[in-house]
Amino acid sequence: SHRIMMGPLVAAIDQGTSSTRFLVFNAKTAELLSHHQVEIKQSFPKEGWVEEDPKEILQSVYECMERTCEKLTQLNIDISNIKAIGVTNQRETTLVWDKETGEPLYNAIVWLDLRTQSTVERLINKTPGRNKNHLKHKTGLPISTYFSAVKLRWLMDNVDEVHDAVVSHRAMFGTVDSWLIWCLTGGKSGGVHCTDVTNASRTMLFNIHTLDWDPELCTYFGIPMEILPRVRSSSEIYGLMKSGALSGIPISGCLGDQSAALVGQMCFQDGQAKNTYGTGCFLLRNTGAKPVMSEHGLLTTVAYKLGRDQPACYALEGSVAIAGAVVRWLQDNLGIISCSEELEKFAASVGTSYGCYFVPAFSGLYAPYWEPSARGIICGLTQFTNKNHVAFAALEAVCFQTREILDAMNQDSGIPLTQLQVDGGMTSNKLLMQLQADILCIPVVKPSMPETTALGAAMAAGAAEGVSVWSLNPEDLSEVTSEKFEPQINPEESEFRYARWKKAVQKSMNWET
Ligand code: ADP
Repeated sequence: SHRIMMGPLVAAIDQGTSSTRFLVFNAKTAELLSHHQVEIKQSFPKEGWVEEDPKEILQSVYECMERTCEKLTQLNIDISNIKAIGVTNQRETTLVWDKETGEPLYNAIVWLDLRTQSTVERLINKTPGRNKNHLKHKTGLPISTYFSAVKLRWLMDNVDEVHDAVVSHRAMFGTVDSWLIWCLTGGKSGGVHCTDVTNASRTMLFNIHTLDWDPELCTYFGIPMEILPRVRSSSEIYGLMKSGALSGIPISGCLGDQSAALVGQMCFQDGQAKNTYGTGCFLLRNTGAKPVMSEHGLLTTVAYKLGRDQPACYALEGSVAIAGAVVRWLQDNLGIISCSEELEKFAASVGTSYGCYFVPAFSGLYAPYWEPSARGIICGLTQFTNKNHVAFAALEAVCFQTREILDAMNQDSGIPLTQLQVDGGMTSNKLLMQLQADILCIPVVKPSMPETTALGAAMAAGAAEGVSVWSLNPEDLSEVTSEKFEPQINPEESEFRYARWKKAVQKSMNWET
């Protein structure tokens, strides 16, 4: 059979909270040529705990790689055209493994996990003025269950295997990017232990100004620095694939998923922003070369650093813990939908929540409240309310939460966004997109190629020094085609519903008192 002539190709591993994907793009046109996706099991061993199996995560990556290569071969595309691989990942999720055996020492503690709530409360109580922003000047983050340092502390305090490995200098800590890169580049026989600035900036051990691990922060959390990965830029050759069909190909891009989406949406200019709707929902706005500290409950984070000699770019971020996760909850825990597509059908059949409001504060509330003790509520129920109204309220909740972080973002920057660029798994829900435009009162713009997170990681990998098959010059980048949702309800109606939502949020924070 004849082989199709192709220019260079670049691949991306997209290891998300709910699934793993491997995708291959044409580096000249950004066209997605083939991909494969595998779901990841989440376990909830106790109330508030969320774990994933590090070996299952790794296996899913190998499986996606193999299947994608098979699909490419069936398309007569030569996989030797793949010149680089980028990694993008669920952020903050925390792993510790043994560098001698290569074995994980506990499950991955997922970013949503709440087991560290009491530790967090104790740490905040010890700060002057009980200030959750005590470390913000260095980290850009409030002290919260969300970030890796407290999860790592928990592992050292509660898992004997982790404690012993740390004491005997066999422990390696990493977020999912580090775990994957270490394993893929050889694991216990010479794997590279590294992370990139974007992932490091979510640990609370990283100084976002100096772009290095911070000894004071490590002392504060009692973390020995020798277990930390080396911090690299988001675009450089970290190492080569050690096995499988892609053996020998450089891994040369690494970005936390939200940073990768920012790159994939081409938000390279100060002021540009995107909102990604996955398990959670994350709005990032590029603030250029300077970190801007929020006055309204947003995080300051490293957006990307595309090359060793390139400057770091920063972003303001509004993080919402529960977006797509509420869909999964309605399906798995309540059983009122049998698949995520059904949610749209049910909600659309009524077109209103009929006064029902659903605050899915399952993991406390993130931005702009940072209230770990908040819990979910569904309120405004009447005899008339049915599951379709609850389905509608669940979709609306995602939109209201986005409105809250967009408002905070606009207040912090003083320059309101005039439209919102979106992506992520939930954006296939057209009703959600229309509701979002209605509730924000600005247009919502969705690229026709939805895999922007993977695209961003592939771009970073392809642009790395020594690979250089992808240009990050905005003039060379191909035009993105997109779909636009215009607001259709009047702003008073929108304000009225938003005001009700805010009342419901207050109840989710005070329902115990
Ligand atoms: P992540 O990167 O966090 O794994 P994805 O971007 O892959 O997330 O999106 C998956 C999430 O989107 C899941 O939580 C799923 O419930 C939700 N989702 C997928 N399709 C739909 C849909 N049609 N309507 C609502 N939610 C959806």
